[in-house]
Amino acid sequence: MQLVGIAKLAASGELLAAKRSVEYFELPTRRLLNRTSERMPFQWTVNPYRGCEFGCVYCYARYTHEFMELHAPGAFERKIFAKQFFAASLAAELRKIPRKDWIAIGTATDPYQPAERRFEVTREILKVFAAGRGRRLSVTTKSDLVLRDLDLLQELARANIVHVNFTVTTMDGELARLLEPLAVRPDLRMAAARKLTEAGIQVGVFPNPVIPMLTDTEASLDAVAKAAAEAGATFLGGGLLFLKPCAKRVFLPFLERHFPRLAPEYERLYRAGAFLRGEYADGIRELVARIRTRHGLRDAPIEYTPELWEPEPEQGNLFEPQAAVRSS
Ligand code: SF4
Repeated sequence: MQLVGIAKLAASGELLAAKRSVEYFELPTRRLLNRTSERMPFQWTVNPYRGCEFGCVYCYARYTHEFMELHAPGAFERKIFAKQFFAASLAAELRKIPRKDWIAIGTATDPYQPAERRFEVTREILKVFAAGRGRRLSVTTKSDLVLRDLDLLQELARANIVHVNFTVTTMDGELARLLEPLAVRPDLRMAAARKLTEAGIQVGVFPNPVIPMLTDTEASLDAVAKAAAEAGATFLGGGLLFLKPCAKRVFLPFLERHFPRLAPEYERLYRAGAFLRGEYADGIRELVARIRTRHGLRDAPIEYTPELWEPEPEQGNLFEPQAAVRSS
């Protein structure tokens, strides 16, 4: 097969390191910023890595490996691509976009996955942002490695609107281990959230995806919201599991293995498509809204003006809170 585009770039990536069964590659990258669709609350995304060692069974980002013609089971978790990074190129990309645009880091893959310990692509990207002012930036992760960059985030937050999102699907450690085999434990994620809020960084928590019949009960969602509020988070997301074919191929066999009675229920629920709509979806939205209110959480970040904020001249009042979306 003749490889083209991203598949060709991936095939040419130099092997950076190999650990247990994980291989790390460098991915030649033309640009780091990617435009999002209008449905999203942010305008640009940055994903420092392709693939993710955390290996969540519901992960929808597996399709990004399919673009590289990497279809083998487990390739997404075991062939990790660190994007080639040049500070000057990112700075040049940033100069071309309005400063009012919201840039989200970690919408497809986790920017603080284990590869980040070695390659520090996320840290280098944050340094570029820290050199400027008046940007809006969010970072989404399931890892407490984000604390390594606390100093940088504090510097960023003095001149930019910044928040960190933690994805926590459940506070049940055993269930989390099954669903997110190599991700940091939920209690450690919440402890990291607390450290960030104590250091003055705004934090949101996302119980996403809400997984039907596994994490969709009031007790389960309430436990996440309670821990988020105790950690000082200001907002709580809440989006239902969607199962694109790439995620379905991993998630349904997982159900067969661990929750066989649920497998036929899922076949029925997702027969019409990847997204759930109707009474059940509306009910989850209402439940999450009630739980938010109960714990004094918002559905979006709080508007604030950083100490060294410098808006673009044409900008008016800039930060319109919108329903935040997760990713990692
Ligand atoms: S942490 Fe996020 S990107 Fe990584 S496997 Fe899990 S859902 Fe996918």
